Amino acid sequence: MGFWKRYLEFPVIWKITIGFIIGIIVGLIVGPQAVVLQPLGTFFLRLLKMIVMPLIFFTLVLGAASINPKTLGKAGGVVIVIYIITSFIAATIGISLALAFHPGQGFTLAGVTYKPPKPVNFLQTVLSWIPTNPFGALAQFQVIPTIIFALFVGISLAYLRVSEVSRIKEAAEVTYKVFDALSEVMYKIVRFVLEVAPYGVFALIAINIGKVGIGLLIPYGRLIGVEALGVAIQIGVVYTSILLIGRINPIKFFRAAAEPMVTAFVTRSSSGTLPVTMRAAEEKLGIDRGLYSFTLPLGATINMDGTAIYMTAVAVFAADIVGRTLTAGEIATVVTAAVMASVGAAGVPSAGLIMLTVTLGSVGLPFEVIGLVAGIDVILDMIRTMNNVTGDLTVTTFTAKLFHLIDFSKGVWAEGKKEEAA
Ligand code: ASP
Repeated sequence: MGFWKRYLEFPVIWKITIGFIIGIIVGLIVGPQAVVLQPLGTFFLRLLKMIVMPLIFFTLVLGAASINPKTLGKAGGVVIVIYIITSFIAATIGISLALAFHPGQGFTLAGVTYKPPKPVNFLQTVLSWIPTNPFGALAQFQVIPTIIFALFVGISLAYLRVSEVSRIKEAAEVTYKVFDALSEVMYKIVRFVLEVAPYGVFALIAINIGKVGIGLLIPYGRLIGVEALGVAIQIGVVYTSILLIGRINPIKFFRAAAEPMVTAFVTRSSSGTLPVTMRAAEEKLGIDRGLYSFTLPLGATINMDGTAIYMTAVAVFAADIVGRTLTAGEIATVVTAAVMASVGAAGVPSAGLIMLTVTLGSVGLPFEVIGLVAGIDVILDMIRTMNNVTGDLTVTTFTAKLFHLIDFSKGVWAEGKKEEAA
């Protein structure tokens, strides 16, 4: 067998893992100069971003046109409720750990200057989800307005497909098939992008690690530790329990989730990771396109459990620094604000850092702390983004199982069976 053929047959996730490990080593050895690898990282990021909006649009129109609108409505509703519940659990875990370990002890605020950005207006945000120009929304990477428009198109198409006027019915059927083909074209491109992923992952992790370096990690060890432990509990206990309640094999699930998890870690963007997450849902988890094409892009923007953990941890960090003990009422406020801020944060790198204003502001903690944690945000962002993406996929898989929207003859579910049969 030729080298090239063997290379192509070697599983992508292993290639990504190797790229990841070599990247860490290179980042540690080379330090900030690892930034010379930026073009390679940017190449990968741009490929991912290139595909995100067309993928969301084509698959969601197709999905909404194929699935019974009632099922989509019910299952979508369940997903949104679980997204919110898991975010509250995450924020509670985050604040409990932070109160136990007090990550801010030993820090002072002297010399930190930081100009806080304008706080976000929630009503305005919600209204902005309805696009006044859907093509503008697509062009400007606005995920939620695009979801809303795609739902309108898909659901209308579903009605036209059963029209009594044969001209309309036929035209709708052709349109449906065109969207089907376009969705498949997008997945073909995603498969190509995944072949580039090992190199992109290598470059991005080397740059991230090189930028921060070991030296900065030590003083912030406790804050990073609280966030990482919170994320480990959220994934290892909360998500695993959800999967078990849904009678879903967690080992198989995490095998399917590995690629999106690593991609989220290095890209620090839930939205940028979407092509990889959606492909895992489609090809590895066999989830109905009608469901995941709606819930995953939505989750990438509103469901951020890792970010909720991070928000609460930084709030306690800030309280420690100014020597304040948070009252029970303040703790409840911080938890609620953290969930709201995590919903409001965009799925892009360091969005959570900016949204800290909401959480800190909710109990009058100093915004200067944002400047203090900005230096290590690369590390904190990698960890929380990985959690965010895993949460979207967990809740989507659980709900898909609940509504019988999983094809168990596909992907990881069939792997054991195929081996048995062989
Ligand atoms: N980077 C995160 C994400 O894309 C958002 C955040 O900064 O918390 O999911």
